[in-house]
Amino acid sequence: MTPTTRKFYVTTAIDYANGEPHLGHAFEKIGADCVARYHRLRGEPVHFVIGMDEHGQKVAQAAEEAGAEPQAWVDGIAERFRVAWDELGISHDDFIRTTEARHARAVQELFRRIRERGHIFEGVYSGYYCVGCEAFKLEKDLDDQGRCPIHPSREIKWVEEPNFFFRLSAFGPWLLERYAAHPDFVRPAAKMNEIRNVVADGLQDISVSRARVPWGIPWPDDPDHTVYVWFEALTNYLSATGFPDASYTELWPADLHIIGPDIVRFHAALWPAMLEAAGLEPPRGVWCHGWVNLAGARFSKSAGVHLTLREAIDRHGPDALRYFLLREVPWDGDGTFSLERFDVRYTADLADGYGNLVSRVLAMIERYLDGTVPPYAADTDLDRARTTTLERYVAAMDGHLLHDGAARALELVADANAFIEARAPWALAKAGNRAALAETLGALAATLAAITAMLTPFLPGKTATVCRALGRDAADVSLVTTEMRGVSGNRVRKIPPLFPKPPAAA
Ligand SMILES: [Zn+2]
Repeated sequence: MTPTTRKFYVTTAIDYANGEPHLGHAFEKIGADCVARYHRLRGEPVHFVIGMDEHGQKVAQAAEEAGAEPQAWVDGIAERFRVAWDELGISHDDFIRTTEARHARAVQELFRRIRERGHIFEGVYSGYYCVGCEAFKLEKDLDDQGRCPIHPSREIKWVEEPNFFFRLSAFGPWLLERYAAHPDFVRPAAKMNEIRNVVADGLQDISVSRARVPWGIPWPDDPDHTVYVWFEALTNYLSATGFPDASYTELWPADLHIIGPDIVRFHAALWPAMLEAAGLEPPRGVWCHGWVNLAGARFSKSAGVHLTLREAIDRHGPDALRYFLLREVPWDGDGTFSLERFDVRYTADLADGYGNLVSRVLAMIERYLDGTVPPYAADTDLDRARTTTLERYVAAMDGHLLHDGAARALELVADANAFIEARAPWALAKAGNRAALAETLGALAATLAAITAMLTPFLPGKTATVCRALGRDAADVSLVTTEMRGVSGNRVRKIPPLFPKPPAAA
């Protein structure tokens, strides 16, 4: 049997089937897609999973209000999310939906194993319950008027019901040991500290079933209960590996769960504890991105922020939106989306920056060298700048600092434009200096190929066009072959402007 290379298994949170995909959803998918594409660029096999969270009381209520059966309702929503991710070039390998049979099978088996190992007990839960959050609330979590601070308009109910409980309190010491052994388990580091403090304060046993929510996965061997939607949803990462089929270990444990700050506790404490309780391996890492704000408000349905994903994509196209979000919003913190900033970066970074460099380099190779990329000498200032910048790009991207990686690529665009001005290829052509001309355009073509590779995770559509113009296949681009050997001797083709200026700015 030949050994298989283990895949880098990366996931995003699955999206709640409760409305339209918005910019907040898109930011997470685009960032995770950038991470997945970067790993592929490094020559690693990748398995990238996204999906939909489709059970629970809120979904059932929304379907009822729309006069639809829950399954038909979530089918329609899943389709809208799929279409959006296709348009944004999200390169997922799997799209898991929690209403699929493969998911129900994995969830029931996971809870069966946790129960067999003695970590489930029966009890009565009583407490405040927010239907908006689908979560029980402690009194201290409520605002002055006894309302959920996230859903002040929703009713808070006092609920008492028989539930199955997970003995989470028993896993505190194990979690703390694990954090000590894997201090990078949660990144950025501030989030790791936050979680460590939460666990050190002591964990409570937690109710993991619901008695009155029929739209869910039946509790194993007790059909009067369903698995509480939070715990069921977390299990999607395991379901997508084919668990409990033996081959699930080809993918599991996941290398990276990419999530937002509101669910970091679930992923960094509860989820590893559930897996440990079932005798399964916990995930290897959790990355917590920040929020994208618009005029100070979070993008979400309940916050009522009105800039639709459609409007944002239509502004300058899907690739430009990807680039802007990842360049403008730090992947390790919060950031702000503004249309004004989007227009400024579109013009400066894309139209006048990368796009203009592509046009200039292709046009000069066409005009001065009959369209053939010259052999490559590798000893100009630009070649040295490229080597240094590539190293800094790799360091940034390895640390998931995507905004920093994009900035490095644009730095090299500026270096290449300065090199053109300093070398003045048109003057070299006029003077008949063929050697200097070939050296100059060789360095520029190599640099353009490198920049294009660096930008592939950010601009997958546009960079594929540039690859074809340079006579290479986008699928062959990797960080190992960004040098001239990839394009030397190729025939180039001129292309229309990559990032046309909108009429108002032209
Ligand atoms: Zn709430």
